[in-house]
Amino acid sequence: MKLYKIKKSNIDRKGRGLYASKDIKAGTKIIDYIGKIVTNKQIDESDKYDNSKPIYLFTLNKRYTLDGDFPWNIAGLINHSCDNNCEYEGKGLKIWITSVKNIKKGEELTCDYGFGYDKDYKQFPCKCREKNCCGYIVRAESRWRINKKFAISNKKN
Ligand SMILES: [Zn+2]
Repeated sequence: MKLYKIKKSNIDRKGRGLYASKDIKAGTKIIDYIGKIVTNKQIDESDKYDNSKPIYLFTLNKRYTLDGDFPWNIAGLINHSCDNNCEYEGKGLKIWITSVKNIKKGEELTCDYGFGYDKDYKQFPCKCREKNCCGYIVRAESRWRINKKFAISNKKN
């Protein structure tokens, strides 16, 4: 049985999201993140990747990137949250989604998109509505740059 189902999202970046179809324990592999493997050179040279944040791009190594921007990549429907209950994991040329918390049936599955902090961060407001939401889709380690209240838990940075 699949651990997820597709439903209209509460966070609503693209209208849909994935939801737990049963209780899921932390550390469970939920779904593969599938796409096409492209070379980093192709990313640099193709128009397709111009001006877009790497929402669906995962750098696999020095040479290859996984482009998950395809309708058949169900895992691409997972929305970003500042209090994510899943994360991307990878090995070699594979990426998948693993739960990082115990998730109750019916909860929306969320990841940290891991965007860096840069001059364009305001283009990507976060709508997760979690208590710790910094307002924008920026990876946890960089949120203190937007809001000082995040500095405490990220002293190292
Ligand atoms: Zn948020």
